[in-house]
Amino acid sequence: MEDIELSSQELARNEAWIEAECPRSTDLFESWGRYPRLQSKVVPIEWQQDIPSKIRGENCASLAVGMGRSYGDACLLSKGTLLQMTSMNRLLDFDSSSGLLTAEAGVTLGQILEFAVPRGFFLPVTPGTKYVTLGGAVANDIHGKNHHKAGTFGNHVISFELVRSDGSRRLCSPTENSEWFSATIGGLGLTGVVTWVQIKLRPIVSRMIDYEGIQYHGIDEFLELADQYKHTEYTVSWIDCASTGRNFARGIFMLGEHSQVPGILKPSPKPQLVFPFEAPGYALNHTTVSAFNTVYFHKQGKPRIKSLNDYEPFFYPLDKVLKWNRLYGEKGLLQFQYALPWDSAREGTIAILREIAKSKLASFLAVLKTFGDVVSPGLLSFPQPGVTLALDFPVKANRTLSLIRRLADMTVDFGGRLNLSKDAAMTAEHFQAFYPQWTQLASFRDHALSSSLWERVTEEQQNL
Ligand SMILES: Cc1cc2nc3c(=O)[nH]c(=O)nc-3n(C[C@H](O)[C@H](O)[C@H](O)COP(=O)(O)OP(=O)(O)OC[C@H]3O[C@@H](n4cnc5c(N)ncnc54)[C@H](O)[C@@H]3O)c2cc1C
Repeated sequence: MEDIELSSQELARNEAWIEAECPRSTDLFESWGRYPRLQSKVVPIEWQQDIPSKIRGENCASLAVGMGRSYGDACLLSKGTLLQMTSMNRLLDFDSSSGLLTAEAGVTLGQILEFAVPRGFFLPVTPGTKYVTLGGAVANDIHGKNHHKAGTFGNHVISFELVRSDGSRRLCSPTENSEWFSATIGGLGLTGVVTWVQIKLRPIVSRMIDYEGIQYHGIDEFLELADQYKHTEYTVSWIDCASTGRNFARGIFMLGEHSQVPGILKPSPKPQLVFPFEAPGYALNHTTVSAFNTVYFHKQGKPRIKSLNDYEPFFYPLDKVLKWNRLYGEKGLLQFQYALPWDSAREGTIAILREIAKSKLASFLAVLKTFGDVVSPGLLSFPQPGVTLALDFPVKANRTLSLIRRLADMTVDFGGRLNLSKDAAMTAEHFQAFYPQWTQLASFRDHALSSSLWERVTEEQQNL
């Protein structure tokens, strides 16, 4: 085992990131969509031993939260106490021969990369931002561009500790307290507070990615590409959700593999840009989005390009601009993400894309990809084999909510489900259709813990 010693430069960089990107305890705690906005008390947690007493000390329900990068209300609790875990951000143990890393649950994936990349390791699974904590990655069982090969984050968790409000501490792994392991992965923070997590990192020899970008026109071409490149480690696509007619469902299919040519293993440069102001509500409209989509589709200049790219723009293109969610204006944004099974993936995706294009509400941030068949250990995990579409909508009075409810109805009809970590609009009826196993999670829930999402989708009031 290696003693974890970060250089003073590494420590300063970590502090700078947390400072720039983490909601402060004195702020209103917002999720990334900034919708809904709810008042809660925010209590920073510094030490593992503080947890049971901090939960018990509150006479309202509590919820552990990380970086607030869930889009909706999975990380919110109206009139409750949010236990902010980002000060519990110590790396505890690392074995450089196996890649096993143990860290406190408030450590961000960005901090892990700062430590791991110079030592020749990378995250086994990463979402589209590195500003998420280990605890948040476990509780939402996040997925990345390699789901078709590697499954979810939970597939790479070796063990973690779960602390409950009754003071009990459980070591959870696939073989020890396995039912708690399964309930907590994708368990929305409701089974207890995760204090530390052990994960297995994957080796790399360079920070570079062999990249290929291929233009496609329509869902059939997308599905052909996904099948053709199903053995490539990372695949994802940007899709134009605003266009109709001959440009309907055009996009760029993106492929990536860690470069096998030994190269630089330096940490990433610190982000410099901050979105400076709240954009006016009208800035994002059908005309600006359509114009952006046309430029973006043609930006690679030819139907197919290959290049050697740094991992930052490949995995985290949006992290370059801090607080980019301000682009959606003060009302915020709603994200919608479905997973449809293979049987209905083609038909369902075309029908839902048509409904979205008709609404003229889509933003330019839309991702279409496939999920593979690696089974997650999580009881309530979102991914299932098939196709997933994720996109943002600016909040525009009732128009956006009613569109999202219509799309949720269609998702039910096509046998799919919606991602809870992105949601702020699902009805209890939708939730219970998407996740019939929710009653099992309810039986593992710590009744001192709750979230606004949970109260909404189970129609349960806080009951302490
Ligand atoms: C730009 C962007 C891109 C994204 N891309 C993806 C993607 O590709 N794939 C994907 O799956 N997700 C993606 N997400 C969503 C994000 O990865 C998840 O919502 C993630 O869980 C956020 O982590 P967090 O630390 O911000 O947790 P929060 O949002 O603060 O909390 C999330 C959940 O974790 C629980 N939690 C947090 N810490 C603990 C703890 N210590 N113990 C118990 N429970 C805890 C909370 O109670 C809550 O239920 C993206 C988000 C953004 C903003």
